Amino acid sequence: MPSTTSPRMRPALDAVPGYTPARVPDGTAPVHRLAANESPYPPLPGVLERLAVTAQDANRYPDFGCRELTAELAARLDVPAAHIAVGTGSVALAQQLIQITADPGDEVLFAWRSFEAYPVMTRLAGAVPVQVPLTADERHDLRAMARAVTERTRLVIVCNPNNPTGTVVGRAELEAFLDQVPADVLVVLDEAYVEFADDPDHPDGVELYRDRPNVCVLRTFSKAHGLAGLRVGYAVAHEPVAAALRTAAVPFGVSQLAQDAAVASLRAESAMRERVAALTAERARVVRELAAQGWTVAPTRANFVWLRLGDRTAEFADACAAAGVSVMAFPGDGARVSIGDAAANDAFLRCTSRFR
Ligand code: PMP
Repeated sequence: MPSTTSPRMRPALDAVPGYTPARVPDGTAPVHRLAANESPYPPLPGVLERLAVTAQDANRYPDFGCRELTAELAARLDVPAAHIAVGTGSVALAQQLIQITADPGDEVLFAWRSFEAYPVMTRLAGAVPVQVPLTADERHDLRAMARAVTERTRLVIVCNPNNPTGTVVGRAELEAFLDQVPADVLVVLDEAYVEFADDPDHPDGVELYRDRPNVCVLRTFSKAHGLAGLRVGYAVAHEPVAAALRTAAVPFGVSQLAQDAAVASLRAESAMRERVAALTAERARVVRELAAQGWTVAPTRANFVWLRLGDRTAEFADACAAAGVSVMAFPGDGARVSIGDAAANDAFLRCTSRFR
């Protein structure tokens, strides 16, 4: 007789909040994918050619140490190769960071609202998410975050620019914050959108990490480099942290396709910068039009905008879906909408002009 009893699983799983899936428009309307902050462009020059060659070796495991990509990153960032850990997307590295720092009951501190994976991954580890509300103008409240550090805090995450608001923390305030965090607490600067942060005051995490052994920078090839489907990101941190991250990785988690595409993408930097410039120009247009339509939008330095819609969020996302535009809704709170190509942005702006 098969038993009806479930196997015993970790109690922490009961408290894991689920991810909110993006609404996928149904029907036959052309779909504009503005829910995941993806790049609207195909891979950069040289990437597809390299992938075609690499694909022929799909019977082989990837290079375990991601050596070519690590060397390329080390040279470009002017950091030792031992300070780099490559991951299966930066989200995997964030999960590894929690794993290497937090025991059950320890605290992981971050602003809220921020990247939706942070509380999920924290709970998965049995740790406690401490979520410090953003200010009224949707910015990190670094003073409140500094005050929220306790004896149990093992990890602090600063998402800069912040997902989903697009707001940024300036250099001076970030440095003042880092000076207040105890040296035995790891601070993660999640810079998934850093290429879009076209502000001279935007702090470069890689500069901040150099003389701070408790700072770890996370970056990704999923956004400006347009390789979201290949799953590759990296961390920059001093050797003990970078080594622990490599220990905590799933073996062979970064495919050879991902490694080689990332290398080719780095070598196409000027084309990447041109695309970023085109997207930031579109971002300025979208923000201008939204303001002209009477919307209040937080100042965004990322490839998305945040509309605080409160109770009308789900209704708005449904209206967008009906018009073939997929956006990321956080019901009761707001919607995050990526900057896409001009046609997608126009479709989104038609939705906002109709939604009252
Ligand atoms: N950090 C932030 C702030 C993000 O928004 C995302 C993607 N939505 C990630 C990390 C993860 O990106 P990936 O795993 O594709 O590198």
